[in-house]
Amino acid sequence: MGAYVAFGRDRGSRSLFLTALCACLALAWQVPSQAQRMISRVDVRSAGQDTIIALVASDGQPVSMSSFALDNPPRLVFDLPGVKLDPSLAPSLQGPTPGIVQVRLGQFQVEPDVARVVVDLNPAFTTPDYEATKGREPGETLIVLRGRGATLLQAPQVTVEGETVMLRVGKVGLLPRVVGTLDDPFRIYADITGAVVESSLKQEIGKGSVREVRLGQQPEEGGRPVARLVVELNARQAYSFACEGTDLVVAIGPDAWALPLPEYRAAGRLKGRVIVVDPGHGGRDTGAAAVFTPERRGPYEKDLVLDMGLRLARILEAEGAEVTMTRSDDTFVELKERAAIANRLGADVMVSIHCNSCDEPGRLSGTSVYYDHSHSEGLARLVQHELVAALGTSDKGVRNANFAVIRRAVVPGILVEVAYVNHPEDLRRLVHPNFRERAARAMAEGVIKFLAQQNGGARSG
Ligand code: ZN
Repeated sequence: MGAYVAFGRDRGSRSLFLTALCACLALAWQVPSQAQRMISRVDVRSAGQDTIIALVASDGQPVSMSSFALDNPPRLVFDLPGVKLDPSLAPSLQGPTPGIVQVRLGQFQVEPDVARVVVDLNPAFTTPDYEATKGREPGETLIVLRGRGATLLQAPQVTVEGETVMLRVGKVGLLPRVVGTLDDPFRIYADITGAVVESSLKQEIGKGSVREVRLGQQPEEGGRPVARLVVELNARQAYSFACEGTDLVVAIGPDAWALPLPEYRAAGRLKGRVIVVDPGHGGRDTGAAAVFTPERRGPYEKDLVLDMGLRLARILEAEGAEVTMTRSDDTFVELKERAAIANRLGADVMVSIHCNSCDEPGRLSGTSVYYDHSHSEGLARLVQHELVAALGTSDKGVRNANFAVIRRAVVPGILVEVAYVNHPEDLRRLVHPNFRERAARAMAEGVIKFLAQQNGGARSG
């Protein structure tokens, strides 16, 4: 009965302030009249800056509860009338954040039954706001302790993928608001609000260009703890921050275009639009090849542009567009048929994707976009702008040219030359899947901006 005794009977010590705090917790769920409701599972987890206590009732119905707060030591008490605890449940669970010491469970009373959940708070932190809410699982009730509890950061996990070093810091939940770099030596830092480190941490890495990772505490901001992550490097590198679940992921590498991308988040910006994606060449028409030695041919333009076309189509569809591809595998399609598809559909836009090449391998590099009819010039400029910004390729500009595909298309159409397949630096980019994904996203962004302008009546004819 240790847990029972440990709760104490000191309800009289609650202050007016704490009573007011309780008032914010009001649950409207009815307790079913049948006796013997049982909490069969309890788990405690962190979600971003919040701590969640999930209580699962075996009858599939959420439970109601009342609550109050006590101090010396500070704790929150939740009473669940008409409820028994499964005797096999652990009497206490460790808090997932330093603000929450532990969560204790006990049968406060029997006949009538009252189960009790006590949250022991770390006196070094302010009392969190809290509320109870229905969970997603049947019978699940969540006690959500909001915000001010802080996340205890653990040493980042470090992995290497090719030239990219990835650091993963668990339980951060949000992208840091403050990110920057410092010189001598070059280092990347990020301030993580609502996070603490138990003691300053310094980890020698020696992977790729990453020399050392440090975690330390910064001065509080607005009453909230701030931890600083510092990554020290041998040389200036490109970097990106992303969230995967509640993990903060920092990617570091020599080329910004090769860094991993966060999952694409569509926003329904192309609903009702009809778009034709035309990966150039295909089948017996290989397009340009990256030939550097007699033994080694390829990769071929037809394969690189098909991959980018499929990526572009997926993004446009995610945005709500109806997408038709002139080819979605390695087949030969006549030039005139490609434009005819777009014309038949009365497409809003046609994007033809190619890779450039020149007679003297390695002489030329960069990105350009071609258009024929003047109503396509705006589209060409927007896509070119997005591509160069995303890819860091050299800007070969927008050109007017009468390539058959875009000449025959009566709908706004462009021909994109993403990069030079027979230039070593451009080829290094083209063969990297992250580069092709960036190219697809950039083309999509240009198309979205163009069509948004059309909507806005900016079309000049
Ligand atoms: Zn081509």
